[in-house]
Amino acid sequence: MMTQIQTLRGADRRIWLSLLFVFPLVFVRPLPAETQTIPDINWSAVEKEAGELLSQVVQIDTSNPPGNETAAARFWQNILTQEGIEARVYESEPGRGIIYGRLKGSGKKKALILLHHLDVVPADPAEWEFDPFGGVIKDGYVHGRGAIDCKGVSVVQFLALALLKRSGLRFERDIIFLGTGDEEVGGRKGAGWFVDTHFDLIADAEFLLTEGGGIRQRDGKRSYRVSVAEKAPCWIELKATGPAGHGASPTPETAVTRLIRALDKIRRHQTAFKVVPAVQAYFSALADSEDGETARHYRALEQALQDETFRKKFTAKPGHNALVRNTISLTVLNGSPKTNVVPASASAHLDCRLLPGEDPQQFIAQLKQVVDDPNIQFSTLLNFPSAASDPATPLFEAIRSVAARRDPHAPVLPSVLGGFTDTHYFREKGIISYGFSGLALAAEDARGVHGLNERMPLAALRDAVQVLLEVVLSIDAIPEEGGAHGS
Ligand SMILES: [Zn+2]
Repeated sequence: MMTQIQTLRGADRRIWLSLLFVFPLVFVRPLPAETQTIPDINWSAVEKEAGELLSQVVQIDTSNPPGNETAAARFWQNILTQEGIEARVYESEPGRGIIYGRLKGSGKKKALILLHHLDVVPADPAEWEFDPFGGVIKDGYVHGRGAIDCKGVSVVQFLALALLKRSGLRFERDIIFLGTGDEEVGGRKGAGWFVDTHFDLIADAEFLLTEGGGIRQRDGKRSYRVSVAEKAPCWIELKATGPAGHGASPTPETAVTRLIRALDKIRRHQTAFKVVPAVQAYFSALADSEDGETARHYRALEQALQDETFRKKFTAKPGHNALVRNTISLTVLNGSPKTNVVPASASAHLDCRLLPGEDPQQFIAQLKQVVDDPNIQFSTLLNFPSAASDPATPLFEAIRSVAARRDPHAPVLPSVLGGFTDTHYFREKGIISYGFSGLALAAEDARGVHGLNERMPLAALRDAVQVLLEVVLSIDAIPEEGGAHGS
């Protein structure tokens, strides 16, 4: 496998060397950001390289738990080193690796981080059409767990970096390639640990791009979604206790009956509607491509939600509903392991997601009121504050300008993610972080994320590399003068 990649790289390098004799003549003067164009790259070779890389990285099983991300971190370290890019592996614990690479720019501007995660959610081969860790390339797709989330993103980020390096173009910002572990269970042993213990390595960064947004393709229409805020998880465990005993001679009140009563109250509880500014901004932008009444409602969402007909229609879409209220999902249930044993305790997990700006303590206090049973103990499993990033930055403008060039009619939407990524660790440190991978995925492919038969179209990989490279070059890159290349 490695030989194949090296051969491809060799071929690529030859193409690039020949291009370098041509391009310095073209780029004799710095061009303004809007007219920045990327050199004439052999995109079918890039597509092939992207597919091979993704296939290989999918074959490294980083199912979390346990993660074992070090193998993937070492893979990237080798690839980056071959490319002449400085790279180091860090571990939060044995096996829990993180890859950190840095491509030097002129240093005139602050660094840009390209963040992805190395771990994936588990996959059961018996349920999949192809082996989830086989890395099969077939009919224009790479198949396997992580093909989209997030190994596809890592390949796009790496190739954008590599093409920048190979092109010899000069750019102002250092670009940091950061792949962390543990994201799928909250990132505390990945991005959280790295930001806590090695922040000095990224302290010069101003911007960050990661998963969580991209180009959406629905019914032939495209829209660019840049996530600027996320809902915050507030994962709660509820525990009930009661007399243990034999199932043949039950008492009226047990841990299980108490728990079920509490959960039923929570199930019936309707959280209040609230339209935060980031969500209103998103729907206002969406309104531009809607007609008549819907557009009017989208432009004044808070008010529109008081209209029963609109509210019913709007909240029937789970994605929309999640953007205008705190949500509660009942997920884990634990009672007795045996049919004839009444357990002394029973527990449940709630996956609650809070809107930006919500106070988790207040939310939990409210749930306690709803349950109204001192026997039920609440404990927090995971929670962090929801931080948002300002959409008025040169990075957002760069994405907008790339979108305008590639898809003049596609809206660029600052959006709020219903789920969460590792961005909050970086946003909390003041790094402007956007979810935007550059990947354009159809609904049927996006469904594979955390589901069955995850797959990545090769063409989407290739185009995303193009998009990301254009974005990086559009922030403030200045083409090299005179032909000396590489740093
Ligand atoms: Zn992910």
